[in-house]
Amino acid sequence: MKIAFHTLGCKVNQYESEAMAALFRQRGHLVVDEHDFADVYVINTCTVTAEADRKSRQYIRRMKKVNPDSIVAVTGCYAQTRPEEVSAVAGVDIVTGTNEKSSLPRIVEEFAERGQQHVLRVHPLEQLTSYEDTGIVTSAENRTRAYVKIQEGCNRFCSYCVIPYARGEVRSRPMEDIIAEARKLIRGGYKEIVLTGINTALYGTEPGFGRGADGLCAGTGRAAAAEPSGIEPVIAALDDLDGDFRIRLSSLEPAVVNADYVKRLLPYRRLCHHLHLSAQSGSDAVLRAMNRPYDREQYLEIVRTLRREDPGYGISTDMIAGFPGEKEEDVEDSLDLIGQCGFCRTHVFRYSRRPMTAAAEMKDQIPSQVKGERSRRLQEAGEQAAEDFFLRCAGQTRRVLWETYSPEDGLLSGYTDSYIRVWTKAAPEEGESRLNTFEDVRLAEPFRDGMMAESSSP
Ligand code: SF4
Repeated sequence: MKIAFHTLGCKVNQYESEAMAALFRQRGHLVVDEHDFADVYVINTCTVTAEADRKSRQYIRRMKKVNPDSIVAVTGCYAQTRPEEVSAVAGVDIVTGTNEKSSLPRIVEEFAERGQQHVLRVHPLEQLTSYEDTGIVTSAENRTRAYVKIQEGCNRFCSYCVIPYARGEVRSRPMEDIIAEARKLIRGGYKEIVLTGINTALYGTEPGFGRGADGLCAGTGRAAAAEPSGIEPVIAALDDLDGDFRIRLSSLEPAVVNADYVKRLLPYRRLCHHLHLSAQSGSDAVLRAMNRPYDREQYLEIVRTLRREDPGYGISTDMIAGFPGEKEEDVEDSLDLIGQCGFCRTHVFRYSRRPMTAAAEMKDQIPSQVKGERSRRLQEAGEQAAEDFFLRCAGQTRRVLWETYSPEDGLLSGYTDSYIRVWTKAAPEEGESRLNTFEDVRLAEPFRDGMMAESSSP
């Protein structure tokens, strides 16, 4: 059969779609482009906001229209959290949850053989107790950067977040599988390995995984244990591998790690000097209401610790605009935090009321127009902070991995370890030959969404 995927949401979903595509191929099916005419459409959904739910429903309907005789299989976070609602969308044949990726090809084949009967296969969260093995996957963004999923689930229950209801408890991938996948990617020529998961800082912390929940400070400010814990053993093992590559973390939760913990990661030579640390708010009152177990001072201490070691350390963040009960002074605190931290990127999300979460029941929900206005101000502050950060980095020499070349404008571009997009002029042949190579460059001045560089290599 011809199988097409449409994937919504985060890098974890993209990774899992690649894993499912590989399993379909292993069973003799042909995976085609999502816009092609297919026998089976797999829609891997997201439910992080109400808008994500709406888009998921829209794609389900659209795919059935492309081929009314096709099998439409819906999986992912929206399917896991609201299977009945998804089943009720016209045209849906199969609904599976977030722990059924490896069995989806077999479910689809059985459906095709036995004829038209709706299949609903969603396990309750309490049954999601082990990491689902989907085999060794190649999930790559381009020829240079590939993703390795290291864990599943989250047990933090931030009051706005539906993810624990979609992904269940923390389950960590065995270290040997992570290393095997990374080795294959490095042999395949990928130069940047991005460790991804639902909450990667929680790697290895579930009871029974071997390491226990030691060492992670959960925002209490206590010193981390001296023994490697959490994600650190994964970084240490990858750092020791042979090859010409670097490691990037997709994010680390300040709800899990503190300044001592991130400081311990600094000596790993392959680990990029960039962290995505979701602040969500700069107001202590809002952070408490969000059930985020850190305050702005602890967050700032993480940022100061990293920047003391490397003033050009790149830090990106997420901010939520219009959390229930958020006051003007809370917004001011968030704007101030953005300015103080000098984020290289700030992703701003309007608060979205998610079913099942504590915040959905809170009083003082913020009107949509106010959320929009606050979101715009946070966005502008984020852009200003990035520009200031770029200006402060001017004159630094940093390692860039070249990723794209455009012959039209003669520009080569890539990212520094600190996640600044860098551009440089290059003639066509030279530009192509530098792709997927590392180079030390001197950052000159802000340009487009990053900086222009002067090459400091011979
Ligand atoms: S740490 Fe909080 S925001 Fe992140 S996935 Fe877990 S519950 Fe959601």
